[in-house]
Amino acid sequence: MKAVVYKGKDQVSVEEIPNPRIEAPDDAIIRISSAAICGSDLHMFEDRSAAGPGTVFGHENMGIIEEVGPAVRSIKQGDRVVLPFNVACGFCFNCARGYTNACLTANPEGTTAGYGYAGMGPYRGGQAEYLRVPFADFNCLKLPGNEGDELEDDFVLLADIFPTAWHATEQAHVHEGDTVAVYGAGPVGLLAAYSSLLKGASEVFVVDRAPERLQKAKSIGAIPVDFTQGDPAEQIKEIRKRNTRQQSALRPEDRKMEGVMCGIDAVGYQARDDRNPDREDPMQVIRQLSQVVNPTGHIGIIGVFFPKDPGGVDEHARKGEYLFPLGEIWDKGIGIEMGQAPVKRYNVFLRDMIINGRAKPSFIVTQRLPLSQAPEAYAHFVHRGVGAGKDYTKVVLKPGLDRAA
Ligand code: ZN
Ligand code: ZN
Repeated sequence: MKAVVYKGKDQVSVEEIPNPRIEAPDDAIIRISSAAICGSDLHMFEDRSAAGPGTVFGHENMGIIEEVGPAVRSIKQGDRVVLPFNVACGFCFNCARGYTNACLTANPEGTTAGYGYAGMGPYRGGQAEYLRVPFADFNCLKLPGNEGDELEDDFVLLADIFPTAWHATEQAHVHEGDTVAVYGAGPVGLLAAYSSLLKGASEVFVVDRAPERLQKAKSIGAIPVDFTQGDPAEQIKEIRKRNTRQQSALRPEDRKMEGVMCGIDAVGYQARDDRNPDREDPMQVIRQLSQVVNPTGHIGIIGVFFPKDPGGVDEHARKGEYLFPLGEIWDKGIGIEMGQAPVKRYNVFLRDMIINGRAKPSFIVTQRLPLSQAPEAYAHFVHRGVGAGKDYTKVVLKPGLDRAA
């Protein structure tokens, strides 16, 4: 079969590799109908992770069951399914408590497992024609309809981006009426803003520099903030001050709460320096969140940080160590939560919101391409919404388009 294989810094190619096969009685094989490229694939693509050449990428996978092992009970050949990027067993101490992002069974070398990802176990990725799914009964989320229908690109976002974005709003304690600042208007940032609005947030700001992405934020009712136009924390406070109706509802002392209650970092360790976007500044977003989040608020760090980063800006960053204003955060009593989303906690109800027309996350999808065009897609997407990548927010690969061509 054909698959997207990592070749080394800034290089992937589409190559023939052996088809996956049933290895354990509870495995399934799926034929991929859609596999999305993720911003977190870019960390590996840019050689900013422990992923070595030969890694088959792809953790956002959906398709049709081709074959199941003899112990699989609840799904069968022909079923349409989407798979959480976390591979999980369903029965270990962490899975049993809902923390499928920290499965103790699925990765012999660690406490988190996933498809096609550095440090996440022996599983090949799904940017390919076929994929082996371990613990198939637990991992497959069944979907209605038919391959390629009008909900295909909404459903594929259930593998990672939509549940991950929803999880970011949980980490940041977003509730009805809340004020939210989301840093990063990539797929997760946009859907974190969207999830906040679905939860009933009253004001949602989205910070980025990519015009098309900020436009998407605006299109869903969020307030875009372009960080090239000045300190985004100050811009957010200024916009809030200009909301005269809201301001006139405050007691004088309430005006000390000039920022927002909830902050989300949807950028991670490859954040750019505001004043000089050619330079990386991994703590840029966390520093700004500590300024813009009000006392007693919450910060969710859904953007990725790794314990090892070969391309880190200094010796500390290369070991995943960072300097950030803990004193200010402690003084304001701000809570911080971080880490990978346990997709299974959210994917059932988010699926049902899609089925019943309450959510349409596919507004972020900008390209639907055959697998064979993966190398060009990576080369554009890596620009993160600016320059040569300005039209690229979310790419979904469709192996079926290669067969049609
Ligand atoms: Zn992803
Ligand atoms: Zn487990």
